[in-house]
Amino acid sequence: MTTTTDLVSYEDALASYDPVMGLEVHVELGTATKMFCGCSTALGADPNTQTCPVCLGLPGALPVVNATGVESAIKIGLALNCEIAEWCRFARKNYFYPDMPKNFQTSQYDEPIAFNGYLDVQMEDGEVFRVEIERAHMEEDTGKSTHVGGATGRIHGASHSLLDYNRAGIPLIEIVTKPITGAGERAPEVARAYVRELRELIRALGVSEARMEMGQMRCDVNLSLMPKGADKFGTRSETKNVNSLRSVERAARFEIQRHAAVLSSGGTIVQETRHFHEDTGSTIS
Ligand code: ADP
Ligand code: MG
Ligand code: ZN
Repeated sequence: MTTTTDLVSYEDALASYDPVMGLEVHVELGTATKMFCGCSTALGADPNTQTCPVCLGLPGALPVVNATGVESAIKIGLALNCEIAEWCRFARKNYFYPDMPKNFQTSQYDEPIAFNGYLDVQMEDGEVFRVEIERAHMEEDTGKSTHVGGATGRIHGASHSLLDYNRAGIPLIEIVTKPITGAGERAPEVARAYVRELRELIRALGVSEARMEMGQMRCDVNLSLMPKGADKFGTRSETKNVNSLRSVERAARFEIQRHAAVLSSGGTIVQETRHFHEDTGSTIS
């Protein structure tokens, strides 16, 4: 089955609409141990050999926060010109998913460690665009599922699934921008420049190698359009886990063209998660 998505040309989309973007970037920290236990974070070990009662969420286990993880989060917050909370706490984000052994992710909700910052990003032609930062908060990674027996490696058609919890509990920092407005036709370029600048910053701080091709840094691209001159944001789509600079730019560009096609034919955008396909440069629901 092939599905095609209606698009309008990029130029026509920008003639009628202003894009609004929000970028959520997850960075795996390069700490030696996990966020709440002493298990190693080294890659390449046999499945489930780097686990313990804490990161498996067994009853009675007591998490203890990784001091280096907190210091790394503060460094990132300061580098992003954020205010640093003198008091913050973790929250349980409950959802049912097999790659999360505890059935909740330990994250931060209303009291993130860093908030209200900005990052000035330079584009290819030298122009500087300021991206406002909403928050940077600490959380932990999930495990990894492998679906076996099907043709595609996806869960549909698989005969069984394997779970590796070595990654569960590795420290993550999530950095969330405020809605990015005013970039106009340069929005996809701003998205790419922002992620590049953030990656260089994180490397310079020495808190992570931030290698996108290894999943150490991944970006969710939220995008909506509003008719030119409007002041109320449209409904956003969220393209998850985009894992290269080029793909960040392409995903934003594709979503601008897709949203414009839906809106200009009288349709409505549904708020949903979408997946970016490297090979076609398109997103699917
Ligand atoms: P969620 O966890 O539901 O994705 P977050 O607040 O963590 O929510 O992230 C939403 C991201 O999308 C933020 O970067 C925010 O600035 C941005 N955003 C919010 N509303 C819109 C909108 N209408 N259009 C584009 N981006 C938006
Ligand atoms: Mg999101
Ligand atoms: Zn552990």
